[in-house]
Amino acid sequence: MWDFIIIGGGILGFSTAMQLQKAYPEKRMLVLEKESGPAQHQTGHNSGVIHAGVYYTPGSLKAKFCLEGNRAIREFCDQHNVKYDICGKLLVATNAVEKQRMEALWERTAANGLEREWLEADALKEREPNISGVAGIFVPSSGIVNYAEVTQAMAAEFERLGGEVHYGSCVTGLDERTNDVVVTTQNDTFTSRYLVSCSGLMADRVIRMLGQDPGFTICPFRGEYYLLPERHNRIVNHLIYPIPDPTMPFLGVHLTRMIDGTVTVGPNAVLALKREGYRKQDMSLTDMGQMFTHPGILKVLGKHLKPGLLEMKNSLYKRGYLSLVRKYCPSLTAEDLTPYPAGVRAQAVSNDGKLVDDFLFVNTRRTVNVGNAPSPAATSALPIGAHIVEQVKGLLSE
Ligand SMILES: Cc1cc2nc3c(=O)[nH]c(=O)nc-3n(C[C@H](O)[C@H](O)[C@H](O)COP(=O)(O)OP(=O)(O)OC[C@H]3O[C@@H](n4cnc5c(N)ncnc54)[C@H](O)[C@@H]3O)c2cc1C
Repeated sequence: MWDFIIIGGGILGFSTAMQLQKAYPEKRMLVLEKESGPAQHQTGHNSGVIHAGVYYTPGSLKAKFCLEGNRAIREFCDQHNVKYDICGKLLVATNAVEKQRMEALWERTAANGLEREWLEADALKEREPNISGVAGIFVPSSGIVNYAEVTQAMAAEFERLGGEVHYGSCVTGLDERTNDVVVTTQNDTFTSRYLVSCSGLMADRVIRMLGQDPGFTICPFRGEYYLLPERHNRIVNHLIYPIPDPTMPFLGVHLTRMIDGTVTVGPNAVLALKREGYRKQDMSLTDMGQMFTHPGILKVLGKHLKPGLLEMKNSLYKRGYLSLVRKYCPSLTAEDLTPYPAGVRAQAVSNDGKLVDDFLFVNTRRTVNVGNAPSPAATSALPIGAHIVEQVKGLLSE
C-alpha cells in the first residue's frame, strides 16, 4: 500500500512529489510516468522562459504563482546547480494599435507588482540595435532556464528524500474506493491512500478514469519553432516579444535566447491533430474524434476560425511565419529559419466553449488533479506544487 501516487513525470509531477515528500517524510510515495524518463512532453518542449508575470489577470492563480515561481525557481536552481540567466524581456510595439495595447499591458504590469521600464523608439534601438519598434516595455525579471534540467533536479531530490519513481508505467485505470484508490498500469496494480494527477496533455482522460466529468477537454496546440544559425546567437540582448492580441490565448512568435546560447523563433499555435504529435503530419483518429465531437472545442474553433487558419498557413509557408518576426526584427531572412523541434500545449476547453484561462484543479475525496496548466506553469511549478500539497493536507484532515 502506497500513501501517495503521483501520475506524471513532468515538472508539475516532480515539483509536487518533491514537496509532498518533504512535508511527509515518513509516507511512501510513488511517481508513475509512462515515458522512459522525466520531462518528455510539455516540460521538455518549451521556450525555457522564466516568466515575470506580465500578462495575467491581476488576482488570478497565474498572476500569483508566476510572480512567486519566478523567485522560487531561481532559488531552487541556485541550490541545485542548475544554470539560468535573468536576461530580461522586451515587449515591442510595432505600430499605433500595438502601442495602445502596450499601454494596457503597462497598467497590468503595475497591478501585477512588476518592476519595468517604458522605452520610446530611440531608447529601444539603443538597447536592441537589431530590433525595430515604436515603443517597448523592458521587464528585467524575466529569464531563461532548461526546464528538463530543473525537473531532473526535482526528481533526484524526490528520490533522495525516499520517493520512488517507475518510468515506463502508463496508468490505464483508476478506481477510487472508500479508503483508497486502485491504480492500474499496463503491467501492475497499485493501491494508494491518495492520488495526485499531473498528467498534462492527458489531464481530462485521467479525471474521466475516476468516473468524473472534468467539465473540459484538452485541446492540443502545437507550438512550432525555428532555430537561428550560430552567427545570430548575439542578435538580441534580451527576450523579444510582440504585443499580444488580447483576444488570442497565446503570446505570439518571439525571439528567445536559450540557455545553451542559441536563439529560437516561435512558437506559433496550430491546432494539433494528435495530443502528443510533434510533427505536422502526426494524426490520431481517437484524438481527432474526441476533439471534433466536443461542442466546446467546436465553438472555440468556430470563434477563432480566421486567426486559426492564418496560423495554419504560416505553419506551412515559412515566409508567412517569417513575416511575423520580421515585424520587429527586419534583418532576418527565410534562410535564417532552420528546423527545431516543436512542442504541444495542453489547453483545457470548457464544455460550454471557453478556453480555460487560469490554472485549474479538480479534486475528489482522495484525489487532486491538475486540469489546466498551460504557460506559465513551468515558471510556476514550485508554487503550484505547494498549492497541491495544501490541497492534499485538506483531504487528509477530512
Ligand atoms: C511550446 C510551449 C512553450 C512553452 N513555453 C513556456 C515557457 O517559456 N515558460 C513557462 O513557464 N511555460 C511554458 N510552457 C508551458 C509549460 O511547458 C507547461 O505548462 C508545463 O511543462 C506543464 O508541466 P506538466 O508537468 O503539467 O506537463 P508535462 O510536462 O506534459 O508532463 C505530464 C506528464 O504526464 C505523463 N502522463 C500523462 N498521462 C499519463 C498516464 N496515463 N500514465 C503515466 N504518465 C502519464 C506524460 O507522459 C508527461 O510526462 C510552454 C509549453 C509549450 C508546449
